[in-house]
Amino acid sequence: MKVAIIGSGIVGLTIAYTLSKENIDITIFEKERDSLSHGTGRNSGVIHSGIYYQPKTLRSTLCIRGSKLMKKFISENNLYINNCGKLLLPKTKKDIETLNLLYERSKEVGVETIKLNSFDEILKIEPNCNPLFNDALFIKETAIADPKEVSNKLIEILKKRGVIIKYDTKVDSISSNNTIIISNNKIHNFDLIINSAGLHADYLANKSNLKTRYTSLPFKGKYWKISFGDKNEIPNRLIYPVPNLDQPFLGVHTVYDKDGNFYLGPSSTPVFGREAYRPFRKFNFLEFCALSYKFILKIIFNENNLRNLAISEFKNLFLSSVMKSSNAYFRHKPVKIELSSKVGIRSQMFDKNSKKLFNDFVVIKQNNIIHILNAISPAWTSSFAMAEFICEKYTIKNRNNNESA
Ligand SMILES: Cc1cc2nc3c(=O)[nH]c(=O)nc-3n(C[C@H](O)[C@H](O)[C@H](O)COP(=O)(O)OP(=O)(O)OC[C@H]3O[C@@H](n4cnc5c(N)ncnc54)[C@H](O)[C@@H]3O)c2cc1C
Repeated sequence: MKVAIIGSGIVGLTIAYTLSKENIDITIFEKERDSLSHGTGRNSGVIHSGIYYQPKTLRSTLCIRGSKLMKKFISENNLYINNCGKLLLPKTKKDIETLNLLYERSKEVGVETIKLNSFDEILKIEPNCNPLFNDALFIKETAIADPKEVSNKLIEILKKRGVIIKYDTKVDSISSNNTIIISNNKIHNFDLIINSAGLHADYLANKSNLKTRYTSLPFKGKYWKISFGDKNEIPNRLIYPVPNLDQPFLGVHTVYDKDGNFYLGPSSTPVFGREAYRPFRKFNFLEFCALSYKFILKIIFNENNLRNLAISEFKNLFLSSVMKSSNAYFRHKPVKIELSSKVGIRSQMFDKNSKKLFNDFVVIKQNNIIHILNAISPAWTSSFAMAEFICEKYTIKNRNNNESA
C-alpha cells in the first residue's frame, strides 16, 4: 500500500509515525524546507489537559488521550518537558460560573483538577500570581514541551523506518478519483492520500472538489515578551484566564520556552493572509480580497459575536492592555514588556450553516483521500491520538467507508 501525506507539521508526522509501524510505503510532501515553518513551529508548546472542550467531541477525546500519548513519546525519547500545571484565574464574577462548570467537567472526563477557594490556597500553588478573586482552578496535568524537539525526533525515527520526506515540494492539486498528486508538474499515484496541510488543507480539499460547509477564517496570534527584575519573580505555573467557551480561543496566557524566555500571548486577531506573519511578506492579493470580504461581512453582521471578539482581541495588540492583563496575573511588576517576533496563525474554519467559528476538529474521508480540516489548538497536544484515530477508523479497519466525523 502506497500512502502520500501532504504536510510535515505535527499532524502529518504523527500519522506517518503511526502508519509506519505497519509495513506501509509512505511519502510525505512538504512545500517548505523544514517541518516547523507554520503551526507546529509557532505554537505555545502547551500540552493541554482537554477540559475546555465539550465532552465526547473529537477535540475533547483526542486531546485527553493525545496528552497522555505526547507525554509518553517525550518520556520514551528523553525530551524536554516541564510538568508545571496550569492555574485558571477568574477576572469577573461570570468567570467563576465558568470555572465551576470546568471543575465539574474535569470530573466528568477524568482529568485531575484542584478547586482552590482562598487567596492562601492560590498563593500556595503559585506565590508569584496576583489573584483578583479567591476562586481558582489548578489543572495538574497541563505541561509544556518543545514542539521543535518533538518534530525533530519524529523525523529521525521516520527516516530510520524508511519514510521519505520530500521538502521543497509543493502539492498543487489532488484528485479524489484516481488519487493522483501533481507536484512540481509531476504526477504520482498513491492508494491513499492524507491531506494534513494545516492552513492550506481547505484549499487542497477545494481542489479535489470536496464540498463542505466550512470556509477558512485564519486568526493571528502575537506574543509579548516579559522580563522581570529577578528570575525568581517569574510564575512557575502557567497562568490562564477563564476561557469564553463559545469561542475556540483560550485567551492571552503565560508561556515559557525551553530556553527560559517568558511570554504573554497569543492574541487572536483576524488576519488577511494564511501566511501573513509579517506585513506584506508572502502577500497574495486574491487571498487578501477574499479573506477581507469574509471577515468584514461577519464583523458587520456580528456573526458568532465576531465583532466583539475582534474588538476585545484587537486591544491585546497594545501595550496598555497587555499591562492590564499582566497586573491581574503577576505579583511583581515586569521591568520590560515588548512585542516579540514569535507569531503564529490558526487554521480556523467558519461553519457556513451555523454561522459560527467551528469548535471541533474536522476529518472527512472522500474516496481515497482523508482531509484533516480545522486542526486548531489543541491539535499539537492531540496529534498522536488523532493519528491513532485516523489510522484505526479509516485506514486500517474501515478502508472502504465513506464516513465523515
Ligand atoms: C499561536 C498558536 C499557539 C498554539 N498553541 C498551541 C498549544 O499550546 N498547544 C496545542 O496543542 N496546540 C497549539 N496550537 C495549535 C497547533 O499549533 C496546531 O494545531 C498544529 O500545529 C497543527 O499542525 P498541522 O500539522 O495541522 O499544521 P502545520 O504545522 O501548519 O503543518 C502543515 C504543513 O503543511 C505544509 N503544506 C501546506 N500546504 C502544502 C502543499 N500544498 N504542499 C505541501 N505541503 C504543504 C505546510 O508547509 C506545513 O508545514 C497553537 C497554534 C497557534 C497558531
